[in-house]
Amino acid sequence: MKELGTAAKSLFANVRHIATWDHARTLVLLAVVVHYVGRWSRPVRAEGLAPVLRRVRLAILRRVFAWMMLIPSNRRRVEREMASAVDDIAKSLMPNTPVPVVRALPAQGRDDVWVMAQVDALQRLGGHGEVDGREVYLDGRVSGTVYHGGPHLNRLLAETLERFLLTNPLHPEVFPGLRKMEAEVVSMVLRMYHAPEHAAGTTTSGGTESIMMACLAMREWGRAERGITHPEIVVPASAHVAFDKAGHYFGMVVRRVPVDPTTRKVNIGLMHRAINRHTVLLVGSAPNFPDGMIDDIVSIGALARRYKIGCHVDCCLGSFLVPFLSEAGFVSEPFDFRVDGVTSISCDTHKYGFAPKGSSIVMYRKESLRRYQYFVSSDWVGGVYASPTLAGSRPGALIAGAWAAMMNIGHDGYVQSCREIVGAAQTIERRVRNEIPELQVLGKPLVSVVAFASAGSVNIYDVGDQMSRRGWHLNAIGGDMPAFHIACTRLTVPVVDAFMRDLKESVAHSHTRPKKSGTMATVYGLHSTTPVAPMLLNEMAARYIDTMYEVSAP
Ligand SMILES: *Cc1c(COP(=O)(O)O)cnc(C)c1O
Repeated sequence: MKELGTAAKSLFANVRHIATWDHARTLVLLAVVVHYVGRWSRPVRAEGLAPVLRRVRLAILRRVFAWMMLIPSNRRRVEREMASAVDDIAKSLMPNTPVPVVRALPAQGRDDVWVMAQVDALQRLGGHGEVDGREVYLDGRVSGTVYHGGPHLNRLLAETLERFLLTNPLHPEVFPGLRKMEAEVVSMVLRMYHAPEHAAGTTTSGGTESIMMACLAMREWGRAERGITHPEIVVPASAHVAFDKAGHYFGMVVRRVPVDPTTRKVNIGLMHRAINRHTVLLVGSAPNFPDGMIDDIVSIGALARRYKIGCHVDCCLGSFLVPFLSEAGFVSEPFDFRVDGVTSISCDTHKYGFAPKGSSIVMYRKESLRRYQYFVSSDWVGGVYASPTLAGSRPGALIAGAWAAMMNIGHDGYVQSCREIVGAAQTIERRVRNEIPELQVLGKPLVSVVAFASAGSVNIYDVGDQMSRRGWHLNAIGGDMPAFHIACTRLTVPVVDAFMRDLKESVAHSHTRPKKSGTMATVYGLHSTTPVAPMLLNEMAARYIDTMYEVSAP
């Protein structure tokens, strides 16, 4: 005891000796330097120097642009250009129509016949003159977007929704049947993803909410169990933008890691370097949205285990396809809870599960992780309030709809739809590789998305424009490789030949023409390559949303 005291005293003396003013100043300086070097080196370590320098350059250009906008004549010119672009947006969003414009409640209620006549006309709005004018997307020329489970299922869903129209799972004691259905929907999806005992999940309103909940849960986990106050998540460059949305809403830094240029899977070495003491979650997609690749989930899970942090698999798009790939006779890759280290998975029932829109599942390996997404308030004047997800009241009809879809289609039905949809995607992939040398297929797609880039001689956005002109609604993708993709659905299956014919024609019409940017390119051509564009892009995007809420064209 006495020795300890002497040791402490001498230590204290030493500390006093060190802590002179000079030393203190140096120490403070050192701390500041270490802080900033740490802060700036982290993104460099994760992404490499070039992308970080590009961002710095962009930030400088933004500042310069902001200064230039202080000059009235500049501002007027940009404003004019923007107004004309917004005009174009408005025209494309608001087709001419005799359907009357409504701005306020009708003074007297309209009768059912009037309402249904309007509903009918509104449903046809913007239609391309199909036989019955209904549901113009049924011709299958749309990438993703409409996950159609067939006319029979839709009737069943409509009837189920009708019965549960006004139900709300916020009040399980009022709707015991609905509570049972919700628990069963989650249980069925957990089984599909080979969740271990004590795994748990919740329903959500869609993939974005599922992803946001998984990020929130890991933020809370990090704070509670690790004392992490500045949480970061590490995601592939190809991961869905919902992770950025989660970062934005929940105050988390999102570090994006480049993908391998050939395999299009996230670069595991760089992901490793992006991990630091603030990291709470690693992410992989199965598959990702841009080019449909499944990341190396085994390696990401192993990293997560090594650093004892979370690993989320975004299977929103993979939903009810990836779990059935093997059984449908296709090549598959590990993606679910059987992979060590995977702690959460998101799966969209409203995609290839064919549930009504507004339905998704988030799952956790352990119940204790699910707890971290709950919100509970015990001292509200309205009583103890506990809710599992973002919403308060929730649409019970959509949960009942998901339940009905899953029960009606069943395991065999989903295997069959996987066979058809992935089969269509693989036919497209094979035929493009064999028949269109001007295009290259990105990576080796295993699921429903096939992405095409130019093999050199064509302007890919021009090809995309040509496809738009032929009635196709495809997705342009930016990033390191300009391309566009098709996400096959049940509606694509019968139009694969039409797709190939139109694609060949589009390529033929593209490469003889001079390289100019088309409309797909004008959206993506403004990408980070043009100096002034990015700040205009943000403003344009905001005006696009403004325009969505205009009742009629100006
Ligand atoms: C669709 C999708 C999501 C979620 O999108 P929501 O529109 O919110 O349902 C997330 N990740 C991927 C890869 C997706 O394709």
